[in-house]
Amino acid sequence: MPAGRFAPSPTGPLHLGSLLTAAASYMAAKQAGLQWLLRIDDLDTARNVDGAAQQIIDALEAHGLHPDAPVIYQSKLIIRYAEALTRLQHSGECFHCTCSRKKLPKGRPYPGTCRHRTTPVNDAAVRLRLRGEPITFEDVVQGPQSFDPAELGDQIILRRDGVYAYHLACAVDDGMNDIVQVVRGVDLLPSTAPQLAIMRALGLSEPVYAHVPVVTNRAGQKLSKQTHAHPVNVGAAAQNLQRVLSLLGLPTPANRTQTWQPSDWLQWGVSCFDLRRTQQRLPPGSGDDFELPSPT
Ligand SMILES: [Zn+2]
Repeated sequence: MPAGRFAPSPTGPLHLGSLLTAAASYMAAKQAGLQWLLRIDDLDTARNVDGAAQQIIDALEAHGLHPDAPVIYQSKLIIRYAEALTRLQHSGECFHCTCSRKKLPKGRPYPGTCRHRTTPVNDAAVRLRLRGEPITFEDVVQGPQSFDPAELGDQIILRRDGVYAYHLACAVDDGMNDIVQVVRGVDLLPSTAPQLAIMRALGLSEPVYAHVPVVTNRAGQKLSKQTHAHPVNVGAAAQNLQRVLSLLGLPTPANRTQTWQPSDWLQWGVSCFDLRRTQQRLPPGSGDDFELPSPT
């Protein structure tokens, strides 16, 4: 069944920014009559935090965000990525890269050093060659996008440590799980072109993308584990949803009562959320003081 999805990495608990993305993807999916799936992007085991996946699932449940199918764990779909890798390798557009991070120019695209290495070598990453016309797509929130493959550089699809790359796994899952709509944070906008390149190389159908603004602290940094974002208080789920709906530009309901539950807020959100009217960026500090005063 066609679906939208929320796909967090289990690197820490749900914070206001991830709740905003979850709610936006949920409301957009429900509006479009799609299923809403929850996928845990847990391939990078070194970054996973014990218990974080369950914490995220529980926090979403507390906010009325119930997925329409069992939670998907990327760590259980390794065969799927292995098959995709083999197919990409058969396309003749892949090569083995032995460059260390130190050897590569900082902040510039991969210079193509190893393009001649088409036979397997030990201790190497696998890269997909990107070339040709600009990769273009229409983002529902951010408008028309165009990325030059030469600027992106050849993309790692299998890391040197044997972990399937984030872009490969994300592209394959979105394609194979019939994800027709991807609503996620604008920090992931640059990920879209490499993911589209992989989907196109594999002949997978492409979703519509909508990159919603990220919630930032006063210094303008995205809320994350690195910037010490607070976990959402699951005891204040209704207030949290009220807050993220307001950040997403939804009006205050005229008939709002203090007894509204998370499901009431979500229902309200589904009735009037409009991705096309969502702001492209939020002002710095939008994540501050996120605990609204208790209703009196
Ligand atoms: Zn290389």
